[in-house]
Amino acid sequence: MTAFKNAPDQSYLFPHRHLLSVEELSAETITALLDISDVYADHNRARPSSLTSLRGRTCINLFFESSTRTRTSFELAGKRLGADVINISVGASSIKKGETLIDTATTLNAMHADILVIRHGDAGAVKLLSEKVNCAVINAGDGSHEHPTQALLDALTIRRRVGHLKGLTIALCGDVSHSRVARSNIRLLTAMGASLRVIAPPTLMPNSIGQWGVEAFTDMRRGLAGCDIVMMLRLQKERMQGNFVPSVREYFHFYGLDREKLSHAKPGALIMHPGPMNRGVEIDSDIADDIDLSLIQEQVEMGVAVRMACLDVLCRPNAVSLGEG
Ligand code: ASP
Repeated sequence: MTAFKNAPDQSYLFPHRHLLSVEELSAETITALLDISDVYADHNRARPSSLTSLRGRTCINLFFESSTRTRTSFELAGKRLGADVINISVGASSIKKGETLIDTATTLNAMHADILVIRHGDAGAVKLLSEKVNCAVINAGDGSHEHPTQALLDALTIRRRVGHLKGLTIALCGDVSHSRVARSNIRLLTAMGASLRVIAPPTLMPNSIGQWGVEAFTDMRRGLAGCDIVMMLRLQKERMQGNFVPSVREYFHFYGLDREKLSHAKPGALIMHPGPMNRGVEIDSDIADDIDLSLIQEQVEMGVAVRMACLDVLCRPNAVSLGEG
């Protein structure tokens, strides 16, 4: 490895073959991933020469849904660790010619990739693929189900700014129903000792919310009262069949984050958004761009560090391969 001050703990063994969901991660595993990510975040800020720990490894990004931040940061993460990174654009691949999902995965598997990073529009599709290949698989978002690396980067962003996760009150606001970011974050932040709230219009509140271990609100001002962190969610129009909100104007009026609604949260409450943002729909530009309150750019930055950590631990021998899992 090239000069690298404070290298991440090399002795750590990730206890799984794949990274498919937050649900399978213990608080101990989450903490270990955040600690390794922290080291990479410092490394990235200092801009030293590239690392070589993944030299000779191949990472393939297979995205069936569009992505800017996630795909680019996985690519950058792999390259910063010295891996060969290949991006498969589904539009230009044989998938368009009718090849099945599983044929695509087994074809890529035959090329001896070390890691497949997959995003798919259907919940459970990434897990299904992981059962058909020999290499490690990372879930980069499957339908409305999970987006584990997003939750890890959100937790890292909060931990670096606030210093801890335990005891914080965090509100997730907007289209909770269709959001994989909400599901992964609720699992992860709850496991780390935060109290979670969701705030959504009744049409975008999941029916099963009573079993999620969160406090649910349909009124922004009541839901935001006393919150430390306000995480806004995008209206996921691509997952909606029919009209879930009367109009964008009305949605912003009741659920869009502006200074007045934010004044109900704790003074100095921090703002997050996983992107892509719909300015003037779920968040006012004035707040999104307020560098004192908005952590949105740091979320993007931490995305690269977290994905470096995930690629790193999945390329090591793991507790499962060593018979300890
Ligand atoms: N980028 C996030 C995701 O892939 C959030 C969003 O699209 O709204 O789920």
